[in-house]
Amino acid sequence: MQFRNLTRRREIGANSYLLECGETRVVLDAGMHPKQVGFDALPDFGPLPHETADALIITHAHHDHIGALPVLMRKQPHSPVFMTEPTGEIMSGMLHNSVNVMTSQRMEKSIHEYPLFTHRELDENRAHYIYRDLDRSFEVPDSDWQVSFHDAGHILGSTGVMVREAGSTLFYTGDVNFESQTICKAADFPTEGIDVLLMETTRGTYARPADYTRKGEKERLAALIRDTFDANGSLLIPVFALGKTQEVMLMLHELHEEGLIPEMPLQIGGLGTKVTVLYDHYADITRRNYQGFRLLEDIKMLVQPERRGRKGGPRQFVYQPRTIYCLSSGMMTEGTTSNSFAARFIDNPRNAVAFVGYTDPESPGYKLRMAKEGEKIKLSPDLPAVPVNARIESFDLSAHATREQLAEYAEKVAPKKLVLVHGEVESQAWFIERFTQTLPGTEIILPDTHQPIQLW
Ligand SMILES: [Zn+2]
Ligand SMILES: [Zn+2]
Repeated sequence: MQFRNLTRRREIGANSYLLECGETRVVLDAGMHPKQVGFDALPDFGPLPHETADALIITHAHHDHIGALPVLMRKQPHSPVFMTEPTGEIMSGMLHNSVNVMTSQRMEKSIHEYPLFTHRELDENRAHYIYRDLDRSFEVPDSDWQVSFHDAGHILGSTGVMVREAGSTLFYTGDVNFESQTICKAADFPTEGIDVLLMETTRGTYARPADYTRKGEKERLAALIRDTFDANGSLLIPVFALGKTQEVMLMLHELHEEGLIPEMPLQIGGLGTKVTVLYDHYADITRRNYQGFRLLEDIKMLVQPERRGRKGGPRQFVYQPRTIYCLSSGMMTEGTTSNSFAARFIDNPRNAVAFVGYTDPESPGYKLRMAKEGEKIKLSPDLPAVPVNARIESFDLSAHATREQLAEYAEKVAPKKLVLVHGEVESQAWFIERFTQTLPGTEIILPDTHQPIQLW
């Protein structure tokens, strides 16, 4: 069994990996880089000849794992795409949205190759999607490979992937969370009999404070909301459409039920609404907390969002005092709902902005997080600079495992080979240092682009 990294660099970007044994080839994930544009944002599928993949496997519907799938499917038109049903359905929505984003970027940024795929292609691709349940083995067509999915606890539908071939096993974590979130339960991963572990390393540079608890973090958010309410201001929470929107919605509902925050209208917007519909659709039949709870129906504070078709552009929200706005995108990327709303929001000292996820150092969200009080910042080239008078706070509600939790998992598995992916070089350095002590019998591999690595 041979492994090749198809990402262009060692980082979190266009995640994609190739497994190859004899004539059988399987691709794990096909992401698009969130910061690169055009063809540079795609994985380099070079070592995979056209029409040779026996299966494409998708762990979850975040853009950095699915964004390039339609491009890959054009080169592998007969390959089935295996994933869980929620992943497949969410993925369809995310990719259609991505066509719209690329279409507007084509004009605004003159990226001539955009869109890299079309709505029609996406509709046709659905014929190749094959949904598989958690914890059930299935076969890769025309091979003796067995595959099974295991709940990764990261977002709805997310999985780790077990691959068995000729008595040896590889387990790919995808993106994982070993802690319960408000909606997702902690990952349910196997620990026995894994020869090769392919593991994400997203948070390797982040040291969580020793006194951190998720509950404490929630209470800190509640205090910010109470203060903002008392000041007659409003709260903006920039969120990723998939995962974080739904997580924050339910957390706010919980805080309100517990009497920790006052009743305030909750507005959601952007792509988040579409994804929330799917979270509700699967509320009864997926492994989760609050089984059967429907976010769009059962949250009393929620102002019913507008549901828009494919072509509806970002909605403009009207500012109201004592309101919570949960708007995507999480990094306040130019052209998104949270970005344009913030430009009309942050100059008011009564207001507050709560960051609840990762912001890339080059993103407008990061700029706002780092701004000094009163400093004028420009959130988008087409908007005027505004002074930051609102209160700005950040909360650790990550959907990724901490580095310690990942390390403990790897140590329990104690694989013969450990391949580190989905992390910056500095992140991986932390793991290497730790495993030199704790996993002396394990070969640690940092796969360079296309470098063939013999797994067994
Ligand atoms: Zn993810
Ligand atoms: Zn990811």
